[in-house]
Amino acid sequence: MDLALITGGSRGIGRATALSLAQAGYRVAINYRQRAAEAASVVAEIKAQGGSAFALQADIGDEAQVIRMFAELDQQKGALRVLVNNAGILFTQCRVEDLDAERIQRVFATNVTGTFICCREAVKRMGTHHGGKGGAIVNVSSAASRLGAPGEYVDYAASKGAMDTLTKGLSLEVASQGIRVNSVRPGLIYTDMHADGGEPGRVDRLASALPMGRGGQAEEIAAAIVWLASDAASYVTGTFIDAAGGR
Ligand code: NAP
Repeated sequence: MDLALITGGSRGIGRATALSLAQAGYRVAINYRQRAAEAASVVAEIKAQGGSAFALQADIGDEAQVIRMFAELDQQKGALRVLVNNAGILFTQCRVEDLDAERIQRVFATNVTGTFICCREAVKRMGTHHGGKGGAIVNVSSAASRLGAPGEYVDYAASKGAMDTLTKGLSLEVASQGIRVNSVRPGLIYTDMHADGGEPGRVDRLASALPMGRGGQAEEIAAAIVWLASDAASYVTGTFIDAAGGR
């Protein structure tokens, strides 16, 4: 059974994606940072549906923990064929003039450096130049990379911009080694993340101004991620799906 690893698979978009990847026939590795109970409940839900999954704790903002996580993945049967870089963080809404270096570095450590290191470890395992069978990487970026998130979290938006450049550059680097690298850029999706920004009701506040007039559901993002990871997208690399209700 092929393996699919999803970072931040314990909640929100990651959880929905883990469930869909299991339905697509992968044995799913569900990475989480600290909420072990949530990760265990996703594993249990997948197993109850007849799928296969296990949880892997690691803070992807810490290189040593990522290396340890991939070493644990190597102990499992099956080849890694899909990596979804979904884990991402943001902090309380504020203006750039109120940001400090420590916060910016924390955002970039997880969203940018962590994604880079996960990509590096996946390429070493998937790349045909390393004896791998090929695979697909999907980076979960954000509409914020296009919109800039002014007055909210420009640091977060900039980290997603860096992820977009990683998606493009890495896709070209590994296109001839059997690895496709693509991205989904969600808009306003109903998850816990907005509470981390200090406004749990943010999606409802902004939804009526969206072209579609509503916020999105995690399952609507998972569908785009799973399509990009699938053989149905076999000739697609270095591209972005904007799943943002027309925004
Ligand atoms: P969420 O509900 O806040 O869930 C975040 C997930 O990431 C959790 O599983 C969390 O694990 C994990 N995580 C956070 N930091 C981590 C780290 N350092 N190492 C490992 N895991 C970590 O977030 P979400 O809304 O589903 O967002 C998922 C992705 O979509 C993010 O990249 C986000 O930027 C992007 N996105 C979201 C929206 C939106 O409106 N929600 C819009 C655009 C883009 P624990 O459970 O252990 O904390």
